[in-house]
This record gives sequence, C-alpha cells and structure tokens, in this order.
Amino acid sequence: MSSCDDIDLTRGLIPLEQARKQMLSSLSAVTDTFDNDLEGCLGMVLASDIYSPINVPPFNNSAMDGYAMAHQSLAENHIFSMVGKSFAGIPYQGSVALGQCVRIMTGAMLPEGCDTVIMQEHVSVDDDNITINQLPKLGQNVRRRGEEFILDKLVLAKGCVITPRHIALCASLGFAHLPVKRKLKVAIFSTGDELVKLGQPLADGEIYDSNRIALTAMLKRLPVDIIDYGVIEDDPNKIRQTFVKADLAADVIISSGGVSVGEADFTRDIIQELGNINFWKLAIKPGKPIAFGTFDNSVFFGLPGNPVSAMVTFYQLAKPALLKLGGGEVKPALQLKATLSHDLRKSVGRLDFQRGIVTTDSQGELTVSSTGQQSSSMMGSMCLANCFIVLAQEQGNVSAGEQVTIELFDASLT
Ligand code: AMP
Ligand code: MG
Repeated sequence: MSSCDDIDLTRGLIPLEQARKQMLSSLSAVTDTFDNDLEGCLGMVLASDIYSPINVPPFNNSAMDGYAMAHQSLAENHIFSMVGKSFAGIPYQGSVALGQCVRIMTGAMLPEGCDTVIMQEHVSVDDDNITINQLPKLGQNVRRRGEEFILDKLVLAKGCVITPRHIALCASLGFAHLPVKRKLKVAIFSTGDELVKLGQPLADGEIYDSNRIALTAMLKRLPVDIIDYGVIEDDPNKIRQTFVKADLAADVIISSGGVSVGEADFTRDIIQELGNINFWKLAIKPGKPIAFGTFDNSVFFGLPGNPVSAMVTFYQLAKPALLKLGGGEVKPALQLKATLSHDLRKSVGRLDFQRGIVTTDSQGELTVSSTGQQSSSMMGSMCLANCFIVLAQEQGNVSAGEQVTIELFDASLT
C-alpha cells in the first residue's frame, strides 16, 4: 500500500483513547442493587463500600506451634514450667505467671499474661520443663488482635468486580451476603445472509456464525445476562424489528456485521433512524468500522463483521462500557514492555493490536513474537495469542530487538 493510500484511509479516523473517553463519560451506571448470597457474587459488581464488622484477627493468637510466655520473664529465666495447653478453638483458660509457659498451637488464643511465642524448634523439652535455646523478640510469632483490620476499617471499595479473592476476604469477615449491582441485560445478534448456525452443512458462499458464539463467551465472563436473537438476515425490516425488540428488552445491544459501507450494510442507517448514532470510524486496526450509539432505553454497539475485529473492538470498547454501565470500576489495561523477536510490518495511521505470544527468555526477560498472518478474518491469529502487541498510531515498521508495548489478555479473552 502506498503512503498516499494510507493517508486517505486514515483521514477522519478518531483515536481509540479519545473515543473511549468520550463514550465512557456519556454512560451512567445502573442504580438497582440487591443483597446476594456471597457464593453467588462471583463476577458481580460490589454496590457499596464494605467495612470490617470485626477485628481481624479477633483475638491475639499464635502464628506458630510453640510455647507462649511473657517476654519479660526471659530476662531472668531460660527454663519455664509448662502449665497447660492452648489449641485453636480450645483456649487455655487460666492466667500465666512469670516463669510459666503454655504449649500453644497455630491459631490458638494467646493466654492472659503472655505476649510472645517461641517456636517449638527453639526449645528443649524435659517433661513439663521447657528450656529456651534461642531468645524470641517481644511479640514474636503473635498475630495481634486487629492487626490486619480494625473494626469498621474500609476493606473493599464499591465498584470492584468480585473475584474468588474478594469472596475469600468477605467470608473471613463473616459476610453471608453482599450488596451488588443488578446484572446488565445484553441483547446480541449477528447480521449477514451468509451466516449459518453451527452444526449445519455449508452451501456455496456460506460461513459459520462464529461472532455470536465468540462474543457470548466473552460476555459470560462479565456480570451480564444475555438475550440471544440469533442470526438476522441482511434485510432492513428484519434488522429494524430486532433493534426495536432488543431496545425494549435490554440495557445494551451488541450486533456484529453490517456497519461498514457495503451495499448490504444496513445496521448503521437503521441505528441512525431509530436512535442517536455516534458513528466512530476509529483509528485502530483491526476494527475501524464500529458504531456506538444510544436508543430510547439502551446503548448500542455495532461491531465489525470480521471475527478478529469483532473480538478486539468488544474488548477495547464494549467491555469497558459494560463495566461502567454495570457500576464497575474501569481500569486502564496493564501494559508491559517486551523485546520483539522478529521484524513487524506496520503502516502509519492506526493504532494496531497485533496478536502476539509473549514468553520469558532464559534471562527472565519478556520476549514477544507475532502469531503470523494478521488479517482480521483469521481467527487463528487470535487463538494462538496470549497478548496484543500494541503499536502506536504514528509508529511504522518495527525491527527485531526493539522494545514494544504488550497487553496481556485478561480473563475475558482467555
Ligand atoms: P460485514 O461487516 O457484514 O461486511 O462483514 C465483514 C466480514 O465479516 C465478512 O467477510 C463477513 O462474512 C464476516 N462476518 C460477518 N458476520 C460474521 C459472523 N457473525 N461470524 C463470522 N464472520 C462474520
Ligand atoms: Mg455483512
């Protein structure tokens, strides 16, 4: 392609970051919330800040299997008499005097009069007499009451998408339920006369409708309920009817195909007719034609038909929008630097998301290579990858050995 063509093709294209910012600032989060069983909160958005209802740990306890005593008595005494035992869940009830110690297990409550635990490997035991071989520091091996969270401390901020780690923390604090945002309803359909459902034989000119299946898989990693309208022919009336129906049923409508400028590309015109379109020809590759707009009740994404473009634009635009609408915190993607293992071709003018495989070399440094042919119709390039190689809009060809920016795929793409 000549540089003249490049200029023509990229004229009027909006940079991704600008489009994303503008889109996100136009969206507001759903307000409905409900209390959900903790086990059912995985992947949902936390609706309120969470404060610790208890001290963590709730009582002073031992971090080791060993012997508990008052540190003060170590100044005079290296031999202690053991007066009892404290197990996790079965505390020693008495008080421990100077010169005395208690056998204590990990997690067991520290008896009154004790402030230090010596690990069992640092003592010699002769019946009930314990000789200290290595002096512990004051407070050693003791987990103090409230040392992690004191009562009423903020432990989780609203907007976080709940992972198994959040569930673990909330379980340790005793929460049986959490306040969460309701799930978004997302309507999805594909447009195209050439599209065939999986499991059917292909006639001449037909291909399988893979986008709907791929996008559904990505949506399943997000806090949404999916309404699937299947494949809609390239018939303006049928596409219009589907949009009208979807707008009544869903918060977000995601279609693929028909947003370009071909003679069977009706999606864009219909959105324009039914709602407000902010048609973005974005300066990105793959994924230049992507429509974003609003209807009476819903927000709309018209993703490109090419399968890699559909996935990339979903990931870069629809996913942050779904998070924002769902009340979740939208964080910028984590970008890393890796050394390119071979030359890469890149035309100036569009931000390029090439598909890469990042590995760690023998020195522990990140090295990245392309997955090969990068056509937006070739899903193999996406399937082999574990990251995007992000090449800036104004960047040209890149040579082996140069440092490039990569974005690791997160759970929604793996
Ligand atoms: P379009 O944007 O409708 O012009 O489609 C661009 C390309 O993507 C064409 O080659 C289509 O056949 C292909 N395509 C469109 N929709 C899908 C789909 N749902 N699954 C797989 N490929 C598709
Ligand atoms: Mg089409």
